[in-house]
Amino acid sequence: MTITISADFDAGNIEVQSLDGARAELTIRKDHKSDFYQWFYFRVDGAAGRALELNITNCTGAAYPLGWPDYRACVSDDNVDWRRADTRYADGTLTIRHTPAGDMAWFAYFAPYSSDRHQALVNRIAGQAGVTHRLLGRTLDGRPLDLLTLGNGPKQVWLYARQHPGETMAEWWMEGALDFLVSDDAAARKLRDAATLHVVPNMNPDGSARGHLRTNAAGKNLNREWADPTMDFSPVVFLVSAAMDETGGAFAMDVHGDEAIPFVFMAGFDGVPSLTPRQVENYDAYLAALEARTADFQTKYGYPKAGLGKANMTMSTNQLAERFGAVRMTLEMPFKDNKDAPDPVEGWSPKRSKALAVDCMRTLAEIIDRL
Ligand code: ZN
Repeated sequence: MTITISADFDAGNIEVQSLDGARAELTIRKDHKSDFYQWFYFRVDGAAGRALELNITNCTGAAYPLGWPDYRACVSDDNVDWRRADTRYADGTLTIRHTPAGDMAWFAYFAPYSSDRHQALVNRIAGQAGVTHRLLGRTLDGRPLDLLTLGNGPKQVWLYARQHPGETMAEWWMEGALDFLVSDDAAARKLRDAATLHVVPNMNPDGSARGHLRTNAAGKNLNREWADPTMDFSPVVFLVSAAMDETGGAFAMDVHGDEAIPFVFMAGFDGVPSLTPRQVENYDAYLAALEARTADFQTKYGYPKAGLGKANMTMSTNQLAERFGAVRMTLEMPFKDNKDAPDPVEGWSPKRSKALAVDCMRTLAEIIDRL
């Protein structure tokens, strides 16, 4: 009997090229109006006790081919708890082998963060004392763009995630950050007293629902839209950027995942034209404090730095560091694992993304007074 493979659901992405018993040839669909692809998420039925062999054959043309070596696919029996599957990569094909106990099995590039879970998160946090929810606007597909604001302090802090929708670890991070920020923890209370925090848990709800890796419904990479966003092609960036102009800000973090590098790292705003020593000192102070706090953060591996004046001003961290003369940073978590502290069962995971968020917020509480 032949298995059944489907991806016709929230964030689903796979195309079935052929099926032969428990063996399948699959390809990942491109983002709409774009050549990017790497995110996959699909369900296999009729799988109980069968040795599945799932071959994704179009890996060479994916957005980040270096993401495939040493990568292990995520698998779940219930679409809730995810672990890593036996995965090999060779000659442009990713081969996933798994023998499910039950009839159904789910496979994804990383543990998905669904549109329903996003709504539930916004609802739960918006209902907490001291939290304000604002509908900033609508996306191109008509989805709500949610902004949560909490705290009463003078320092303006912005946290935003998932400009790249396939980087679901970024919204797991947001869940960890928001649950911490509304808690009774002393560091959370300190942050709420020192700062007003503006949080956009998902910058790309359309790309998330469509099963995209990197772009919105118009095929735009939102983290290349910050120099000149438009309501026609990148309304989320336009609206969030305008809201940032209303508040200004001492600190912002843009939360992402990186396909290739097996470490957590930060990208800064080196190379912006009006870089000041104070900006650099405060950025370095944050990174040093975070590195001291958790083995899941390091500063040895990351992106190469840009020379002065060479920053890409279409990226939010650079654009906003220049505009506000303050500290902005891009957090990158791995799709693979943290090679310094690997987890053989789950790899990098929702649990660790959430724990890292708490460490990031505690670190912010530690240095907020100097910003
Ligand atoms: Zn990203």
